[in-house]
Amino acid sequence: MGSGVARSAVVVGGGVGGLATGLALQRAGWDVQVRERAPVIEAAGTGLVLWPNALRCLRSLGLLGEVRDRSTELRESRLLLPDGRTLSRAGVATPDEGGALGVLRPDLVELLAAALAPGTLRLGAPVADPCDLDADLVVGADGLRSVVRTTLWPSAQPVARGSTVWRAVLPRREGPPGRTPGLAETWGRGVRFGVVPVGVGSTYVYAVAPAGDRPTEQPGPLPEWFERWHAPVPAVLESLAPDRWLRHDVHDLRPGGTPLHRGRYALVGDAGHAMEPNLGQGACLALEDAVVLAHCVTAGASVETALEAYDAARRRRVAGLSRRSRQVGLMASRTRPALTRVRDAGMRLTPDWCTRLALRQAVDWRPPAVADLSRPGSR
Ligand SMILES: Cc1cc2nc3c(=O)[nH]c(=O)nc-3n(C[C@H](O)[C@H](O)[C@H](O)COP(=O)(O)OP(=O)(O)OC[C@H]3O[C@@H](n4cnc5c(N)ncnc54)[C@H](O)[C@@H]3O)c2cc1C
Repeated sequence: MGSGVARSAVVVGGGVGGLATGLALQRAGWDVQVRERAPVIEAAGTGLVLWPNALRCLRSLGLLGEVRDRSTELRESRLLLPDGRTLSRAGVATPDEGGALGVLRPDLVELLAAALAPGTLRLGAPVADPCDLDADLVVGADGLRSVVRTTLWPSAQPVARGSTVWRAVLPRREGPPGRTPGLAETWGRGVRFGVVPVGVGSTYVYAVAPAGDRPTEQPGPLPEWFERWHAPVPAVLESLAPDRWLRHDVHDLRPGGTPLHRGRYALVGDAGHAMEPNLGQGACLALEDAVVLAHCVTAGASVETALEAYDAARRRRVAGLSRRSRQVGLMASRTRPALTRVRDAGMRLTPDWCTRLALRQAVDWRPPAVADLSRPGSR
């Protein structure tokens, strides 16, 4: 480590991004405090897909095995039409690395938190003003409505993207019958439905619809949007009481519009680059941020220089994926029959290798070669 590098860090926020960053910095020899405003680690929550780019980060942090033990391996990604026909499919597994993982978010958060040294995570510890924090490095990992970001860049505000997502988790015996080889998403006219096996024996389902003409408190997706859709969509909707769904209006930050550092402050995860969830990459990119940030601050001569390198390493990648996610959202939310027919025909004509190529651009990312943070004092 360069002699000029300071060593105390406060991470604001104990979600996936904050916990992973705290862990990576700690493994790199920093004295770390992670401050989370919630009084307890949330035990409820939905599912996440962790793509191979995220799995390589978890390997760097020495946690891949434990996360894998609590996940379902997903070997294929399919896009379907409401009548069940396949629009496109892409294998996501490689012989060396296996597939993506479907995980329950609370499991991932618990494993990351447990890997921190005792006393690192302060629960019930909201940060009101990041300028008050006494540390050499302050990391804003406080999500979409980040207080760190709004203190540094008050104009960088979330933008409503015009759609609503409902998410639920159900035991797999209540879910789709038989073996599911991977994740499946079905596109109708402006509405979508996804089914993902997650954890050990759970199924994560989600529905997306335009936000505009729905009652703002609509507790669950309306079954009539998915009438006559292929199995198991109608049955899943029927089986779930409205209070089993989590509702979420989709927002993002303008792609590339927020610098990821200023002075001793850095942003990771949704605080710096919240994006529409259409690629399922937000948490994966937060894990990438964590590993790259720890790498930069151990390699750089000063915190500020190191954070410049961090920003340079991350900004183009996250902005590119955020733009792509917006494009997918626009395509998927088309409601006019003629436009959806053209969209579906175009997708059916797209060879599977093109779909695979587009996916690979997101998931082929690798952590810096020297980023082994798998044990305390790794660096
Ligand atoms: C519908 C949907 C589906 C998604 N699916 C996927 C997927 O399949 N795969 C994927 O990789 N990503 C997915 N994402 C994105 C992913 O959920 C987010 O990108 C990721 O959770 C961001 O993590 P984070 O730690 O940056 O922020 P958050 O998870 O928002 O964590 C921020 C933390 O900071 C705390 N906090 C906030 N303010 C303060 C404060 N002032 N002081 C202290 N603590 C504070 C909060 O309590 C919270 O715990 C999805 C998102 C949505 C909405």
